[in-house]
Amino acid sequence: MKDLLARLGIDEISSGAWIGSRALPTSGAVVGCADPSTGQTLASVRLAGPEQLEEVIRASQQAFEAWRSVPAPKRGEVVRQMGEVLRAHKDDLGRLVTLEVGKVLSEGLGEVQESIDMADLAVGMSRQLYGLSMHSERASHRMYEQWHPLGPVGVITAFNFPNAVWAWNTMVALISGDSVIWKPSIKASLNALAMHRLLAPVAEAHGFPGLLTLIMGADADVGEALIHDRRIPLISATGSTRMGRRVGQVVAGRLGRCLLELGGNNAIIVHKDADLELALRGIAFGAVGTAGQRCTSTRRVMLHRDIAEGFLDRLVALYERLPIGDPSLPGTLVGPLIDALAVEQYREAIEQARAQGGQVLTGAEVLDRPGFFVRPTIIRARPDMPICREETFAPILYAMVFDELEQAIAWNNDVPQGLSSSIFTDGFRAAERFLSATGSDCGIANVNIGTSGAEIGGAFGGEKETGGGREAGSDSWKAYMRRQTCTLNWGTDLPLAQGVSFDV
Ligand code: NAD
Repeated sequence: MKDLLARLGIDEISSGAWIGSRALPTSGAVVGCADPSTGQTLASVRLAGPEQLEEVIRASQQAFEAWRSVPAPKRGEVVRQMGEVLRAHKDDLGRLVTLEVGKVLSEGLGEVQESIDMADLAVGMSRQLYGLSMHSERASHRMYEQWHPLGPVGVITAFNFPNAVWAWNTMVALISGDSVIWKPSIKASLNALAMHRLLAPVAEAHGFPGLLTLIMGADADVGEALIHDRRIPLISATGSTRMGRRVGQVVAGRLGRCLLELGGNNAIIVHKDADLELALRGIAFGAVGTAGQRCTSTRRVMLHRDIAEGFLDRLVALYERLPIGDPSLPGTLVGPLIDALAVEQYREAIEQARAQGGQVLTGAEVLDRPGFFVRPTIIRARPDMPICREETFAPILYAMVFDELEQAIAWNNDVPQGLSSSIFTDGFRAAERFLSATGSDCGIANVNIGTSGAEIGGAFGGEKETGGGREAGSDSWKAYMRRQTCTLNWGTDLPLAQGVSFDV
């Protein structure tokens, strides 16, 4: 473990503020970063304060002023080189995800692969930042729109995707001509340090030391100062709905732009004509993968009455065979929760579910071993139980039985969140009904695939209390740029639009 940290440039106590490869002296609290499998401290960070944030913002602004004039395909070339660095260090970075946030190794490596894929996608995007051209209503006039860089972007990330969420934002922001200030979750500081220390030198080698900056501090001072700062036109924040509500209000108060990627409460509908083998596997990965700590984790399953009882028996049996343990070992499918607070929230949610009439079918147990391990849990529930409307960041699945597809679609939509949703069916009509304008109200709607594990080519995000943001592929790059509509008159007259005359 010590070798891994050393190879990734992580000291016993690292600075919480970085401009390129320069660490700023910080004097805040020293916060230990623990391995959730053991509870042992791996290394520490000395937190930054508002003074270092000020320095970081100035450097980021300065870098932006030069970077925005670099042609977009050349910016893409710098991002391509970052992708190469990630490829060379994929194994170490994947192991660090596993070590610090407890994802099983194939998911840790998969997360780094996602960042590599994002770099590749962004390189292509750098030649495709298309604007439209329109026909002017005036003779000898031409109209078109073009996209310009926006400014320094504040990227706030959650603990559960300590590597890829930053890449979703940063690779696209960079090709868009923006600089990036990263404020990661303190629970995943080492991953942020490792990524920053590997990639900032790439920008630096091209003459842009302030293009990538990193600030780790308390939400109450550093976080708040970042979101209030008018020099940062876009804050992209990933995390809980509680955090997003605060960030959204503050940024709206200064008429800045926000890109919010918040909590989910994702459901899978299993119709009576579903391929039950596929559904079982889809639910298992969705509900139990990452120990239920994905924004897209499956939290509710709606089973058609005709198949419900037999299917639940099989699901419970599958849950009881799940290998739980050290996430770095091959064969483990369920790692730990992130910390003691998450274990407490797991316990509380199960208690509330029981008090509201839920029946535990399996799980509901905190494992008696070091670290933060819990048993994946299935609870027979009713959709009107208040706990089913909340996101608990743990492997708890609420199972409900429906008679008519319409009922299941209504239950799918009857929660405050709107991130991901799925139906398992072999029926064309049921699938299309689910995807129709009056079907699922989520940002992601899948057929015969679970709720988690999205591909980067699509735009990722959700509606309602999930925040409305879209990241990664499709035209998500538009969030990181400003649109300019241009009208050119190449004639000798000055006609006004809408037939207005103003003869002087
Ligand atoms: P969290 O809300 O506790 O923290 C997220 C980030 O927000 C952290 O970096 C935190 O320091 C920062 N933050 C909190 N208050 C702030 C403030 N006032 N000013 C500035 N920054 C502030 O979330 P978490 O526990 O790290 O992550 C889990 C949550 O994230 C879940 O709700 C999950 O669904 C959500 N999530 C959503 C997506 C998505 O794409 N929709 C992806 C991953 C995680």
